[in-house]
Amino acid sequence: MAPSKPLKLPLAVAEVDRAAELRSDLAYINSAWSSADVLLFSDEKFATANGKLFFTKGELLGGYQDQIDYFLGVKDSKPFFVRHLPSDHQVAGDFKTLREVGALLSAQDIGLAVHAQSVANWHKKHPRCAICGEKTLVALAGSIRRCPADQSEHYPRTDSAIIVLVKDEDDRILLGRQKVWPKNRFSTFAGFVEPGESFENCVTREVMEEAGVSLKEINYLGSQPWPFPASLMIAFEAITNTPELARPDGDEIEEIRWFTRSDMKDAIAQKTLILPLEISVARQMIKAWYGAGAETELAGNESWR
Ligand SMILES: [Zn+2]
Repeated sequence: MAPSKPLKLPLAVAEVDRAAELRSDLAYINSAWSSADVLLFSDEKFATANGKLFFTKGELLGGYQDQIDYFLGVKDSKPFFVRHLPSDHQVAGDFKTLREVGALLSAQDIGLAVHAQSVANWHKKHPRCAICGEKTLVALAGSIRRCPADQSEHYPRTDSAIIVLVKDEDDRILLGRQKVWPKNRFSTFAGFVEPGESFENCVTREVMEEAGVSLKEINYLGSQPWPFPASLMIAFEAITNTPELARPDGDEIEEIRWFTRSDMKDAIAQKTLILPLEISVARQMIKAWYGAGAETELAGNESWR
């Protein structure tokens, strides 16, 4: 079998220049604010209008506030920021999650939203210094936090997770269902990379743990951020030469199923299979394997969980 082509992944977007060199230029940040397009974010939700992200102008929000306004970058000289509102904010509007609106957004808006959400989630969950426990302050236009007691700098955290499409030599794919998922909801195997572990070793370990098969070939397919709250999904396909040994671990994975393309087509038609969301790596890997007809024959029946 020839290795699959690299995946084009919906959340992997870099249309806006992050312009990291401007983060320390306070004069620029302050002057850019008034004309900037600003996202509003609070508790995993963005302000939206008509199913799209709603951008307001910095000048309508008053002055730049360095503890809640994070610089996202520049495109065609236009600056972008996100204002990170507290949970009890009084801002009116239709706030929705990226999961709800993600499939409807332009690539540029998706890139901005993923960046904004990743950094905002990190600020919210890391308010204190990991060294001395003091409350830290947002610095460099939202890109780091600094401890006022010991001056240590703290950088946003990204959790690496592998995700893998397991195939056998007959080009069937193996999907699993986690205990916590609804009936008929299946997906590819995934897991966090542990300290001191390579991506490839993590793929081998996770597939053995969750599905009981060994792998003879592993190919890299691509990566995309998954800011729920702070992951980076690194995608692979892998071929097993022991498909007959496949079994669920009974702990995290309750059920596994092998699929040919016609098995999958039938299961979708009979509503005995629910696939992951369109914006997920898992969905894109399954569609790429399925090939022609994936857009229509696998449509509908998608689930977040
Ligand atoms: Zn400290």
